[in-house]
Amino acid sequence: MQPLDVDEKNNQNPAFGFETGPIRPPSEAASLLLRVTRNCPWNRCKFCGVYKGSRFSVRSVEEVKADIDAMAHYRDLLFSCMGKDGKPDRKAMLRTIQQADELTREQMYQLLNWILNGKGESVFLQDANSIVLKPERLAEILRYLRKVFPGIKRVTSYGRADTLARLSVEDLRLLRQAGLDRIHSGYESGSDQVLERIGKGCSKQQEIEGGLKTKEAGLELSLYFMPGVGGKALSEENARESADVINRVDPDFVRIRTFVAKPGTELGSQVESGQMAPCTDQEKAAELRLMLEQIHGCRGVLVSDHIVNLLESVNGSLAQDREWMIGQIQRFENMSFDEKREFQLARRMGLVRRPEDVKRLSPQVRKEIHLLMQKTQESDQWERLMNYFLQQYI
Ligand code: SF4
Repeated sequence: MQPLDVDEKNNQNPAFGFETGPIRPPSEAASLLLRVTRNCPWNRCKFCGVYKGSRFSVRSVEEVKADIDAMAHYRDLLFSCMGKDGKPDRKAMLRTIQQADELTREQMYQLLNWILNGKGESVFLQDANSIVLKPERLAEILRYLRKVFPGIKRVTSYGRADTLARLSVEDLRLLRQAGLDRIHSGYESGSDQVLERIGKGCSKQQEIEGGLKTKEAGLELSLYFMPGVGGKALSEENARESADVINRVDPDFVRIRTFVAKPGTELGSQVESGQMAPCTDQEKAAELRLMLEQIHGCRGVLVSDHIVNLLESVNGSLAQDREWMIGQIQRFENMSFDEKREFQLARRMGLVRRPEDVKRLSPQVRKEIHLLMQKTQESDQWERLMNYFLQQYI
């Protein structure tokens, strides 16, 4: 896809205020969300339903600048509620927000979250692949954002691997110099077979090229991988090839997003119809272990920052904690059948974060968990139950 410079007359902006898209990475929960493009220019990944039925469009630079101005206006309103000690007066801010009309209130809450929880430090550019814009156009937006919000320390955006591979290092450097700090990219897998099967629309080679160029331009790189997305058939392939991409690119962050077959997506239908045999939790854990075993010489951090990941404690530096992370997975693998199921159920019910937390649950809760385990002893009943819980999180 060529860089886009089309301004569609598709302005959903209210008379005054700003637009917000549907998603952002979990690590950007306290970021200000600046919508630069709408929806996803690819929109064909078979595991993803976020933008299904929505048309991609580009917002004009003027529209985005008007959003930045509106955000700055709300920021100033909230900052006028500072206490005499120079610290945010939370009660006064809430009073100001509650006096506003409904739409304005919603937008001001985003600013409040950004100020109180994010310390006013980071901005995430929405939606799915904003670097598809002509670099000069995006650079103009970034420069304006930095001018109006001089206190910002980090600006990040999603960027697809094929787009990163197509851009030159100079293009990416221009974005870096204009104020972009980090690219989040959903690689999902390093295997060409898996990428083809899930409709990702890019190749392993593009992932490597795009990742290396991003780093050469001085941008931070945060890559997402999906254990289980190749199903049982491609589980080992997915682990080995993803590790190979990680070894070649050496990203700053490797983020784990365990595959969940979502209803309404093509892979969800394939699992439902038996066309794709999904991995169990144990198989996904083994896949992650194999991937970690194959990673060598990387300096980034592996992050498990999503509730869909079974083993949230598998987090750490790839240089120093790799063995420890492998050990965490082996510890789970060495648990008895019943211990594993008790932990899985408690985790999927949102009651615990780590296997050792199970012992801290009340006797009554553990009794109820065991009752549910007894009712779902058959493996297909059990997998259906696990999937039911997982789908509540997506
Ligand atoms: S590129 Fe991202 S947002 Fe677009 S369809 Fe694929 S996963 Fe969904």
